Formats: sequence, C-alpha cells, structure tokens
Amino acid sequence: MPPFPPAHLADAVLTVDLDAVAANWRYLRDLGRVAGRPVDCAAVLKADGYGLGAQPIAQRLFAEGCRHFFVAHADEGVALREAVPEAWICVLNGLPPGADADFVALGLVPALNDLGQVSAWRSAAQRYAQPLDAVVHLDTGMNRLGLAAEEAALLVNDRMRLRGLRLALLMSHLVSAEKPADPINRQQLERFRTFVSRMPGAPASLANSSGVFLGADFHFDLMRPGAALYGINPTPGAANPMRQAATLSARILQVRQIDAMSGVGYNHDWRSARPSRIAVVAAGYADGYMRVLGNRGEVVIDNHLARVVGRVSMDLLTVDVTDLPEASVRPGAFAELIGPHQTPDQIAEKAHTNGYEVLTSLGNRYHRAYVGAAP
Ligand SMILES: *Cc1c(COP(=O)(O)O)cnc(C)c1O
Repeated sequence: MPPFPPAHLADAVLTVDLDAVAANWRYLRDLGRVAGRPVDCAAVLKADGYGLGAQPIAQRLFAEGCRHFFVAHADEGVALREAVPEAWICVLNGLPPGADADFVALGLVPALNDLGQVSAWRSAAQRYAQPLDAVVHLDTGMNRLGLAAEEAALLVNDRMRLRGLRLALLMSHLVSAEKPADPINRQQLERFRTFVSRMPGAPASLANSSGVFLGADFHFDLMRPGAALYGINPTPGAANPMRQAATLSARILQVRQIDAMSGVGYNHDWRSARPSRIAVVAAGYADGYMRVLGNRGEVVIDNHLARVVGRVSMDLLTVDVTDLPEASVRPGAFAELIGPHQTPDQIAEKAHTNGYEVLTSLGNRYHRAYVGAAP
C-alpha cells in the first residue's frame, strides 16, 4: 500500500466503510442466487480497489466468503496476494513477458487475451511441471482485450493448445451493460454462450456490476462486479440499490470575510455579488478533486450544502459559506467532499465523467480510515 499520512499529519481523511462494501457484495451475490443455480460472486479490485484500498477490502470480502478476485496489473496481484493468501486472483491484463516465475510462485492466474499468451502460459506449465490455472478471455464485441473470434475458433478446434493448463474460467466483458436496452448486450450474450458451449466443462463469467442486473441469463457461474461494491449506481436512471462506501472529508484551513465584487482564487474566476464568507478547504486537483468542479462542485459542512466558488487549485478549494451558520464553519472543521450527500455519481455528473473516474482519481495525501475492518 502507498504510505498514506497518519491522521495527525493529514488535512483530509478518506473513510472507507467496509461494512457497506460487504453488504453490497452480499446483495450482488444474492441476486445471483435468485434463479436457484449456484452462482459465485467475485470482486474486482483493480486500481487499488477503485481507489479505496484493495488490501483491506479483499480481506473483509474474503471473511464474507468471497474467494475470487480480479486485478488489472500483475503488480496489483502481487500486492493482493499478501492480503489474501488463500484467494484465487486473476490478472486481467494478462501475463507480462518475464513474469511467469512470479505468477507461478504466487499462484496468480493470468487472463489469456490472445493465443500467444495461451502458448506462453502453456510453456510455463511445462517448464514448472505443474498444471496451471488459466482464464481464457474472449472478446465478444468490445474490440479491446481478449481473443478475437478467429482465435477462439482455433482454440475450440484444437483443445491441445490448452494441454497442461487447468481451464479455470472462460470470460468476456460487456460493452454497454448499464444500458439494458442496448442490443449489443444480447449479441454478446449469444456469442459468449456459443463459445462456452464449445468449451464444455469450464466455468464461465460475463457480468460486471451492471451486467448482474441484466438478469439471470447473464450470470453464468461467476459474476465480476467492481463499481457497485463501492457504491456506484449499477442501474443509472433508476434508484441506486448500493450503499455508499466512501466518505472524503477535508479540513477547513481558513474562513475569510470578503467585500462585494471581490474576486476569489486564480484569475478571479468567481466574484462575490455581495459581502461573502469564504471557507478555504484543504484538497485540490492533486488530490483528485477535479479542476472542472470549480464553480460547479458542492461540499457539505455540518449538514449544509455549500458551493465551490472560483478555481479548484492544486491543494485548495474555496467554498461560499455566506449562508451557513457561523458556528458550523470554523477552521479545523471538516467539509465533506464525497459522501452520502455528494456521491461519486453526483460529482461525476458535474464533472462530465463517471463515478469510476471520481473514485480512482482519489489521491494519496489522505489519511485512510477503515470502518468495519476484518479482525
Ligand atoms: C473493470 C472490470 C470489471 C468490473 O466492472 P464494473 O463495471 O466496475 O463492475 C469486470 N470485468 C472486467 C474485465 C473489467 O475490466
């Protein structure tokens, strides 16, 4: 884990509610049980658990019964192995050249994204004289990572290419799962089903967070949610069934009174229409509070909403607190930048992005507090 500052040296605190993450995981897992088939639920922890801390989250979810974890980079897999020695860990970006010894030693499973990786991993199995788990990733429409249709056909017709490997999972990834009406969902489902039926005996996985909500057809044997675990709405446009897991609070450093028609911050990008009180808050774009939120963002101070005014600077932002009770806004008090009242999805809308980017942009100058950590 990166060296996050201790509480007494930090101007901001990121609180991660592991009980909420666990509740979200159980909720998704139970959705996979509605059809009466045993469907497992994994957890996707790439980008350090979407910015919230892969290690404590994995430990808590493992204690809940989660056994399958996905990361993007090999290095993330190495870090995660320390936290959950018994778990099954898949590296989605595949096997980097020269990394097979690490993968074998740590029991990391590469997603094999082309036939070259299939044969490299098979050679490793021969070299280390042991059967190795493999994940075969089929591209069913994303045109990003995964075996293209022609490569998949070669594999289906020549299963010897997998000799020495234990086919642990067939997987594919959905293009538009958060848009249930998009016809690409069904097309991918059909392509994936065909592939799975031609590779009998191997478990299969298709659904990301939003895919879980497309119905039991999409569940297969293992669901792979990421975002929803952390509170991002997997069903945009409908009520969010997930619990918020992240609260980001930053200290108010100073509160100042300014006259009417005074400019605030770089380029005086905002001017007061009336005599105003401005709170200076200790977080900025270097901490992932996006610069585009200048004059757009909102923060919560003592249950009152207050608008970000002027530019967001590297380490600071300025907030109009003129209408807030004076007792609520004092130096040393905290302003909530992300939380139940300002969810990652709400911030994303103002910042023209998605909740994923809001969370994964979180910087490393925050003290991290984990609520509900596994013993
Ligand atoms: C990121 C990712 C997931 C998880 O997606 P969410 O939308 O965050 O649930 C699942 N599978 C793959 C291949 C991914 O890259």
